Parts: sequence; C-alpha cells; structure tokens
Amino acid sequence: MASIQLKNVVKSFGSFIGVQDMTLNIADEEFLVLLGPSGCGKTTTMRMIAGLEHPTGGEIRIGGDLMNEVDARDRDVAMVFQGYALYPNMSIYENIRFPLRMRKIPKVRHDELIQRAAEMVELGLFLDRKPGALSGGQRQRAALARAIVRQPQVFLMDEPLSNLDAKLRASMRVQIKHLQRELRVTTVYVTHDQIEAMTLADRIVIMNKGVIQQIGTPDEIYSNPANTFVAGFIGSPPMNLIPGSASNGIFIAEGMTAPCPSGLSGKVTLGIRPEDCRVGGDNLHGVVYGVEPTGDVTYLTVRTASRKIEIKAARDFRAGIDSAVTVGYDPDRLYFFGEDGNRVGAD
Ligand code: ATP
Repeated sequence: MASIQLKNVVKSFGSFIGVQDMTLNIADEEFLVLLGPSGCGKTTTMRMIAGLEHPTGGEIRIGGDLMNEVDARDRDVAMVFQGYALYPNMSIYENIRFPLRMRKIPKVRHDELIQRAAEMVELGLFLDRKPGALSGGQRQRAALARAIVRQPQVFLMDEPLSNLDAKLRASMRVQIKHLQRELRVTTVYVTHDQIEAMTLADRIVIMNKGVIQQIGTPDEIYSNPANTFVAGFIGSPPMNLIPGSASNGIFIAEGMTAPCPSGLSGKVTLGIRPEDCRVGGDNLHGVVYGVEPTGDVTYLTVRTASRKIEIKAARDFRAGIDSAVTVGYDPDRLYFFGEDGNRVGAD
C-alpha cells in the first residue's frame, strides 16, 4: 500500500486556477475524503493523483515516488466513478476480469481473484449476468469488485454513490468503509455530500474555490470549524451564522445577546448549531416560520426581526406558524468568527 503526498500542487486552466497551492499528506491505509461544493477542485485534485491531469506546478508522490511524469496506467491506482463504466456486452465476470488482463496477471490466477472480489461485494451469484440485468446497487458493487480485484496501492473514488437512492447509498457506504478496512488500501474519495464525508473519512479535506479550508477528522471539523465556510458546510441543518458586534464580553445582534470572550471587539459572527439550541429559555425571541417533523426530530425555523434561525427541536414539538417562540442555547457551545471569516476565541 502507499502514502500520497501533494506538495504545493497547482492546476490552472488558462488563466483560471482550479486548484491553488495544495499541500496534503495522505497516510498509508488512510481513508481521506475531499469534500466541497461543485467546482471547488475536488475532481481535478483526484484526477491529478490518478495521472489523468498533469499539475501546472508542484509535486505528487505515491509511496514516496515522484509521479508527475508517470502515465496514469503506470500508477498503481484503481478508480471508481459515479457512472459505473461497466462494459455492457461483457458479463460481470469479464468486467471484473478486465484489469487483470490489462495488467497481464497470469491467467491461472484470474478465476480465484475474480471469485474472491465478487464474494467481498456479495456478487458471487451474479457473475454470468450482463450489467443491464443488474440493479443500480449491484452494478455499483460490480464496479467496486473491478477496482479491488487486483490489490492496487491506491483507490480513487469520485462520487461513486451519487446515482443510488438514499437507502442503497447508506448501505453501500457501510460496505465501502468495511471493504477499505479489510483491504487496507489508501483511499481518496470525492464527494459533495457531507454525511458521506463524515461517515466514511478518517480525515476530511474541505475545499472551496480551489483552496483547502480545513483538514481534520470528522470530529475536529464538526467541533472546531476553522472558518465560516466550514461551519456553514458541515452539519444538517448547518450552523446558524449570525452577524453582530462584540464588546466587553457581550455579543449583540438584533433581538439577541450572548456572552463572548472578553478580548473580542468589533464586528463578529456568532455561530450556533441547531442541535445546541432548545425551545424555551430567553436568549432569543421570535416567531415560528416553519415546523418540519421527521419522526426522530422536528426541525423548527424561527424568524426574528432580521433573520431565520434553525433549531432541532424534540420529536413531538409542534407549533402553529407565526406563534411566538423563545429559544435558549448552551453558552459553552457558541462559536465566534472574525471579519475575515476565521474562527476566533477558540479554546
Ligand atoms: P463537481 O462536484 O461539480 O464535480 P469539483 O469540485 O469536482 O466539482 P472540478 O471538476 O475539480 O470541481 O473543477 C474545478 C474547477 O476547474 C471548476 O471551476 C471547473 O469549471 C474548472 N475546470 C475543470 N476542468 C477544466 C478544464 N478542462 N478546462 C477549464 N476549466 C476546468
């Protein structure tokens, strides 16, 4: 298996910079997720690791070896993309076999390797079928089997689950995580879905406009977001971000106050997660804008004079639109961000 290093990697397309000065060390056997909105540079980063794009500047190493001039087919990486890219006229058996032929693995080993890969993704009974005769989830698993059939040094996965329905996605997520632990192959996984990132990753890299915003474990990213971009991207619903001002240890925004670190002054943004707010208490006064029961939790949107605040309320909370509501929050769970968007006053 292998570690991956990106050192000051840049990718420009003419005058547009798709990836800016990216430095990233991915440990051997790590499951690393690149997360960010559409166009942030995730796929470009992954394609550079694969050798499908050449960096404009910087160095890419796999297993310590410089890869900049190495062709994609000579890098020991296996890729899984969102379109399963299975050959429709070949059986699943032949599809899984394809990389073994390409890599000139001795034929006598093929059957054993194919059977083992198919069993790992529970497709042993479907090897004779053509891709058209499989469900979306089965096709996705066939694509995975094709990636794992020869143990590559690195797996690269680009939104592999985005074509599946929510239930299948959840079960494939568990399967992918389990497989990666079993195979112990360094994995780079691209997604714009924060739940996928949080549940799969050892570490997440959050990108925006070609720039890394934060690198950390899911817990670190959730508990200690580096800036308002990360705070607003992680969490469902995401953190409430409320602009206001701070002086003498008090944060003030229209309709609310909160304690803040005494050193803070001037314009700041307060961050509160919906799960750290509760109905009742008198930190904030407003009216009900929307109530969305989901079974295990009720999402409540409260409108104040100038904005809307999202709250996770108890499962049995119900209230009429426009009724008055007060909100309390845990003073130990407040976040503050400076004018540049970076977090301030962190412990
Ligand atoms: P998505 O989630 O939509 O796939 P992404 O984060 O993977 O987005 P990239 O595909 O890496 O984004 O693209 C990053 C930026 O680089 C985008 O603004 C894109 O338009 C631009 N870009 C990518 N490939 C090219 C290209 N061949 N020529 C010009 N611009 C490109």
